[in-house]
Amino acid sequence: MTHNALQTNLTSWISADAHSDFSIQNLPFGIYGDKTIPHRACSAIGDYIIDLSVLNEHGYFSALSISQDVFNQSTLNDFISLGKQTTSALRHRLSDLLSSTNNELQPNTAIFDLVFKKQSDVCMLLPVKIGDYTDFFSSIDHATNTGTMFRDPANALLPNWKHIPVGYHGRASSICVSGHSFHRPKGQMKPLDATVPVFGPTNQLDIELETAFIIGKSTKMGEAISTSNADDYIFGMVLFNDWSARDIQAWEYVPLGPFLGKNFASTTSPWIVTLDALEPFRTKGYTQEPSVLPYLAYSGDKNIDINLEVHLITENGDDNLVSTSNYKYMYWTMQQQLAHHTVNGCNINVGDMMASGTISGPKKEEYGSFLELTWKGTQPMTLKDGTERKFVNDNDTIILKGYCKKDGIRVGFGECKATLLPAL
Ligand code: MN
Repeated sequence: MTHNALQTNLTSWISADAHSDFSIQNLPFGIYGDKTIPHRACSAIGDYIIDLSVLNEHGYFSALSISQDVFNQSTLNDFISLGKQTTSALRHRLSDLLSSTNNELQPNTAIFDLVFKKQSDVCMLLPVKIGDYTDFFSSIDHATNTGTMFRDPANALLPNWKHIPVGYHGRASSICVSGHSFHRPKGQMKPLDATVPVFGPTNQLDIELETAFIIGKSTKMGEAISTSNADDYIFGMVLFNDWSARDIQAWEYVPLGPFLGKNFASTTSPWIVTLDALEPFRTKGYTQEPSVLPYLAYSGDKNIDINLEVHLITENGDDNLVSTSNYKYMYWTMQQQLAHHTVNGCNINVGDMMASGTISGPKKEEYGSFLELTWKGTQPMTLKDGTERKFVNDNDTIILKGYCKKDGIRVGFGECKATLLPAL
C-alpha cells in the first residue's frame, strides 16, 4: 500500500503548477467549511480542496466500506482512527481517481462542483482534536545557539542533551489553525536592571519554526513504542509556530520549564501531510555521537528533506523572507522522540501533537527563531521597509512554509500563518 518510491510519472487531470504544494503525489488531509457546509474531511490538489464526504457518498470509496459519518465531523480523529491500512488505501484510491489515465470521475461533471472547491473559497479548520501536545528540543544547532547565548559557549549543550530527546508537555487548548490572530500576551518579567519583577505586555514576542507530527494510533498505558515500530503510530506532519514570549519565559522557566511564556498561542498549518507522502524524501541525519542507549537506536535514513521558510509580512504588505531552514537538521528523529516519550509506559492517543522544537540549521540565515536570528536582539534585522526587528512587532504577520522537492515533484504543507495584534 505504501509507495516508497516517488511516482514521478504520475500526473493528474487537474493541473497543479510546479510551485503548488498540492501535487497528486501529496494528497494531504484536512477539514474545511464554507457558506453551506460547517465542516467536512477533505484533501487537496492544485488550487482545489477535494470533498471526501461527497466522493464517499457517491460510492467512489465503496471498496473501503467507510461510514459516511466519519467524513462529516469537525475533526479527522475518527478518520485517522480507521488505521493506516484504510487511510492509506483511501489516499491510494484518490490518487487513482485523479490520475490522468482514469476516467471514473473526470467526465462526471455533475458532481464536479460538489467535490472540487477553490481553496480560496473555503475556510480550513483545525484538522484534529488535540488531546495532548508535547514539544521537543531536538535541533542541535538551536540547542547550541541558546546554550551559547544564555550559558557557556564552551559547554553549550547540557550534559543530558545528546542522550535524551529533551521535551516538555505543553498546552493543547490554545493551538489555533493558520489564519488566526492573537493579542500580544502580558505577564510577569524581571528586566536585567530591575530588582523586582514587573507586569506588562511582553517586549520579546518570538516565533519558533517547528514541525509537528500527529499521532495516528493509540497505545495503552504500560505499552512502549520502539523506534522500528514508530512509523505505524505517526499519521503525518504539519508546520507549527510555537510562539514564545522570551522575557516571560526567562523569568519563569527555572526549575520546571516553559509555562506562560508559551501557552498563550501556537499556530498549526491546516493540512496533515501523510508520512506516506513524505517517505520518498527521507534523508540522512546528523551522526549521533556518543552513541545512544539501545532503546533510542535506529537504522536507516529517518530524517526528511523538508525545506522550511519564515516570512514576516509587515503591515504595508511587504513579504520579508527572514529564515530558510530544513527539517533534515534535526538531531533526534520522530521515531526516537516517540520511543523516548513512551518508554516509561506513557500512553498516547490519536490526534496528539508532538512538535519538533525550533529547527535551526548551521548557518545564520537558517536560524529558526528571532532570538537566534538577532542574537538576543543584539543584531537587529532590517526589513524591506527600512524598519528594524529584534522580535515580532504588533501587526506583523508571520507565515511558515514548508515543502519537499525532488525530480521536479513538489510535496508541500501550505501556510502556517498568524498575525500579532497589540496588547489588550
Ligand atoms: Mn518550541
